[in-house]
Amino acid sequence: MTTIRFKALQETLHRSPVIIKENKRRSKLFAENVFNKQAMMQHMTKEAYQSVIDAIEFGAKIDRKVANQIATSMKDWALSKGATHYTHWFQPLTGTTAEKHDAFFETIENGLAMEKFDGKQLVQQEPDASSFPNGGIRNTFEARGYTAWDPTSPAFVYGTTLCIPTVFVSYTGEALDNKAPLLRALQAVDNAATAVCKYFDKNVSKVNATLGWEQEYFLVDSALAASRPDILMTGRTLLGHTSAKGQQLDDHYFGSIPTRVVNFMRDLEHECMLLGIPVKTRHNEVAPNQFELAPIFEEANLAVDHNSLLMDVMKKVSQRHQFKVLFHEKPFAGINGSGKHNNWSLATDTGVNLLRPGKTPMKNLQFLTFFVNTIKAVYDYEELIRASIASASNDHRLGANEAPPAIISVFIGTQLSSVLDELENVTKGKLSPQEKTDLKLNIVGKIPEILLDNTDRNRTSPFAFTGNKFELRAVGSSANCAGPMTVLNTIIAKQLKEFKIEVDALIETKNLKKDEAVFNVLREYIKASKKIRFEGDGYGEAWEKEAKKRGLSNHKTTPEALKAKISKKAIALFEEMQVMNKIEVEARHEIELEEYTMRIQIESRVLGDIARNHVIPTAIQYQNTLIENVKGLKEIFEKDFKKYAKEQIDLIQKISNHIAEINSKIEQMIAERKSANKLEEPKKAEAYCNKVKPFFEQIRYHCDKLELMVDDNLWTLTKYRELLFTR
Ligand code: ADP
Ligand code: MG
Repeated sequence: MTTIRFKALQETLHRSPVIIKENKRRSKLFAENVFNKQAMMQHMTKEAYQSVIDAIEFGAKIDRKVANQIATSMKDWALSKGATHYTHWFQPLTGTTAEKHDAFFETIENGLAMEKFDGKQLVQQEPDASSFPNGGIRNTFEARGYTAWDPTSPAFVYGTTLCIPTVFVSYTGEALDNKAPLLRALQAVDNAATAVCKYFDKNVSKVNATLGWEQEYFLVDSALAASRPDILMTGRTLLGHTSAKGQQLDDHYFGSIPTRVVNFMRDLEHECMLLGIPVKTRHNEVAPNQFELAPIFEEANLAVDHNSLLMDVMKKVSQRHQFKVLFHEKPFAGINGSGKHNNWSLATDTGVNLLRPGKTPMKNLQFLTFFVNTIKAVYDYEELIRASIASASNDHRLGANEAPPAIISVFIGTQLSSVLDELENVTKGKLSPQEKTDLKLNIVGKIPEILLDNTDRNRTSPFAFTGNKFELRAVGSSANCAGPMTVLNTIIAKQLKEFKIEVDALIETKNLKKDEAVFNVLREYIKASKKIRFEGDGYGEAWEKEAKKRGLSNHKTTPEALKAKISKKAIALFEEMQVMNKIEVEARHEIELEEYTMRIQIESRVLGDIARNHVIPTAIQYQNTLIENVKGLKEIFEKDFKKYAKEQIDLIQKISNHIAEINSKIEQMIAERKSANKLEEPKKAEAYCNKVKPFFEQIRYHCDKLELMVDDNLWTLTKYRELLFTR
């Protein structure tokens, strides 16, 4: 009898690569299936085109007649790309994307048919979407929510479907998705940042948040993945002894990419090109079978959509190549997990990156304004940032002394640290106003324009300045970027709004010149937010102690971290910035707690099943051969047999002990699950976290010990070395 494990290995070893032919330059392929400005210009009337542009740029309303025109051109364009269906594409609170396809096809009189799509179908739809999590916003008896077109993210054809990016809201106006709050946060940061920009440049009329994500992932052969119930059901391995060789030689990182994987990547990139996702970088990551993909950065809403779309495309393309792609933050114990760095900045409509140091002291004062305000915002809302990246799977990185830690801190490099330190001290000496100005401008003038090459890199920091952008590194690889991007842009909006109020007050009441007032407020911010700045090793125990002294939070688990989401401070923030009302915030909090509970519950069940259905029976089978062996030895050597059967007897005992331990831990775990199930949230999630989850490690320990003892030929579960090194 061959086990599924050996069949899967055979299958994997005999795969032939799926060869991808590229016969067009990528620049020619780019956005071929996107109804972007260029396509719209070609297919639409001038009036319709202008009205979409106004909607994109100024949020102007599109009237019904024009909507019909737009819909018709969109349909004609989509049909020319081979589309048969259309869908309102949205991002419900499950974190993934959702779509419900409708055919363009309609019957008309006399048995005839045609393709139809009108303005109403474009602008608004009512999916029967009562089964998406809504945290109690909609009672199921009035389970009405609708999707509404988001013209700022262009429609695209994927496969044979025209996908129209939409927001998903309830009839009472509450956001039921991830996109609506993000759009509101982006509006808030635009308003606040534009107002601040006017201190420096009157011509700025819009500020866009920019996002460049870096997506890490693992690839495992699909047959091997299918042989592991834990990977199939939870996206990660719940047990498995570490392979003798892991990542210790660092021979995978940036190494030559395996052929099957390169073919997958090229196929994926080809799809991305057609969809207008500007992917640029690909490489091996640190862990075996771990890879990374990064695009050129884009406006944040579009970048978020593109990341969500990418994850979906990756799943589909990987199937063609007989791979399973794992987005889980920690699919394998003992080797690196996966994250999704969110590179973030602000850019004006005049083409200035507000986090890039400039040529002149005045330009640098503008840079410093946005730089220091960002640090201050992160300091004031560090707990909320931590909450925005919390999930059962990301706890494996943040809560486990891995990169990055659960403590949010800001790294800015030695050069900028010394600039801030100097600025902070300008207050100390008794300087005349004139001298003050000069000294200030002197320091400000010292920031070199290009910091990119000499900002030191600190890989342990969760929020690092990297020359012309900040990089939020704590986002999990499976996350929807909308969550952390909503929080980051909201807190920056709030901070910039406060800043403007303070500067204006100094100008009016103290009669200070504008740059003097700006400088004064920044100096106070530098002092006030100093505790969030940390340049050292973020993994060390020393930092945990130091951070505690500084009063920074260190929430290692999701139920703990999520509390900050519904704090008075957080609700006040979201309401003031008009990003979410109390109901919307509380609904999300509840959904996230429930999701946490369910994930741990599923893992717990799967682990119990595998331990009992795979590990224990296999161990018993092997133990029986040992017993047979001992019996035989006894027959041959009679009284002397112990001399020859010592190892075997020892193993028989050990196996029994491990089996007993596994059984008793599973019983206890099930009992804890039963009592947890009687609780309400948030107590339930806490119980799953503190009472159920601790058994995972204990059960795993004994299973992994058995893996080392049992005959390899009998072991049914595909081993780490096979999952990580066979392709
Ligand atoms: P790494 O962290 O691997 O060293 P890079 O420094 O190469 O990565 O850049 C990573 C990402 O930063 C890229 O996706 C890039 O598009 C993005 N990025 C660069 N400039 C900006 C910006 N102004 N705003 C947002 N993202 C940016
Ligand atoms: Mg990075």
